[in-house]
Amino acid sequence: MQAVRGRIHTATSAAGRCTGAVQLLAVSKTRSVDDIRAAAAAGQRCFGENYVQEGVHKIIALQGLALEWHFIGPLQSNKTKQVAEYFDWVHSIERFKIAQRLAQQRPSALAPLQLCIQVNIGGEATKSGVAPDQVAALAQQIDTLSGVRLRGLMIIPEADAAPTVLAQRFMALRQLKEALCDQGFQLDTLSMGMSNDLEIAVAAGSTMVRIGTAIFGQRPAIKGAQPI
Ligand SMILES: *Cc1c(COP(=O)(O)O)cnc(C)c1O
Repeated sequence: MQAVRGRIHTATSAAGRCTGAVQLLAVSKTRSVDDIRAAAAAGQRCFGENYVQEGVHKIIALQGLALEWHFIGPLQSNKTKQVAEYFDWVHSIERFKIAQRLAQQRPSALAPLQLCIQVNIGGEATKSGVAPDQVAALAQQIDTLSGVRLRGLMIIPEADAAPTVLAQRFMALRQLKEALCDQGFQLDTLSMGMSNDLEIAVAAGSTMVRIGTAIFGQRPAIKGAQPI
């Protein structure tokens, strides 16, 4: 945890950005409740989960700790209710229908669910995300909903991309966010950067890095899990 915080700090000042400009999301998929409790004791507050069932189980088990929970995996419509009821953020919005269900199912006693649109900057090479030229239309639709609030954009680049390609992807996402802000959307979040590329993402303007392996170590292989 400290090593990752150090990497973020170094990258942030190397980029001439303010201390604290980049938030750390600890990706705790496949990790135990005790692993998360230990990270929380070390000062970590925001955790990311990819699988609904697993995430909700942990959220309930750790309810007393006042942690912030981010859903970052693929989301199908039959799972939106649990996400709307338990999570604080969803980074992986790809369709209006999903955002609409989340908005309808968000309990009114809770703060709006904070959303990011997942963008497919890499074109064919990445399977998920919205095409860049479709993002403004989706953002417009999401802005009509209550119960959710659009905060920014998220990207998962191709796993095998070279550093120069990663830098291009991250810069393209940042430019897309700036273009949307110029159009009047109030976006403050760029969810980009993982264990192997956080420095490149921070240099390109990331505001939230999603880090699993570099905090918790290598993930155990899970049958049927996505090779992320
Ligand atoms: C697993 C995962 C991460 C963390 O990846 P690491 O390489 O372990 O840091 C980040 N984002 C998403 C969407 C993930 O699924």
